[in-house]
Amino acid sequence: MVFTDLDGTLIDHTTYDWAAAQPALDALHDMAAGIVLASSKTAAEMGPLRAKMGVQKWPAIVENGAGILPPFKMQAPAAEDYAKVRAALDGVPSDLRQQFRGFGDMTAQDVSDLTGLSPDDAALAKQRCFSEPGLWSGAKADKEAFLAALADDGITAQQGGRFLTLSLGRNKVDHMRDIIDLYQPQHTVALGDAPNDIAMLEHADIGVVIANPARQPLPPLKTEKAGRIIRTQDAGPVGWNWAILHLIDRFEQSRTPPHG
Ligand SMILES: [Mg+2]
Repeated sequence: MVFTDLDGTLIDHTTYDWAAAQPALDALHDMAAGIVLASSKTAAEMGPLRAKMGVQKWPAIVENGAGILPPFKMQAPAAEDYAKVRAALDGVPSDLRQQFRGFGDMTAQDVSDLTGLSPDDAALAKQRCFSEPGLWSGAKADKEAFLAALADDGITAQQGGRFLTLSLGRNKVDHMRDIIDLYQPQHTVALGDAPNDIAMLEHADIGVVIANPARQPLPPLKTEKAGRIIRTQDAGPVGWNWAILHLIDRFEQSRTPPHG
């Protein structure tokens, strides 16, 4: 079973294309391997993408691990988690609250301007079910007070490159564990390109760090010394394709009894 990040991993950062990884996707399909997409995208963004990739029979991890899109569904179940996050925001003292501007406080055009997504895609990115990304515009001390007030309501924050994302605290690995428990795969492989993928890479039998020339290489990982991490030369879907075909080869060789 393969767990994979999307942007910069299975999908090219600039072209949003995954054609270069199609041979490896086909090979996984032929061996009935599971393919679990795991990214910051919402269920509304992930559903159509997952169907296009032909992997809708597997659950997908959405909103950076804050929730799950069940197999074959195009929508996540009721957005109760998101409602809880927004309600907690409403309870924060207003001088702090007004320094945070979440996707729920923005129009689709605002989100489009901020992210570079098309207005249609920005509208899908605004359909939150589990977590609220936003911009913090205030001082650091105020941010601490803001996060402390939210923590009282059980809300956790993750600071990404740009967005501060509020959720009830589940992450990619929590769901990865649940999915592994459910499907009991023989082997697990995880692929990613960024710091927020590290826990997933370390939790898999084999983690694949996909090269990303746009950022600092990931530091040595916990499982790297044990030979459980491989790093690709090529970025995005080209690296993804190489790594999966290489690993399939490796698993098959370890299964074939020696001749003579
Ligand atoms: Mg990525």
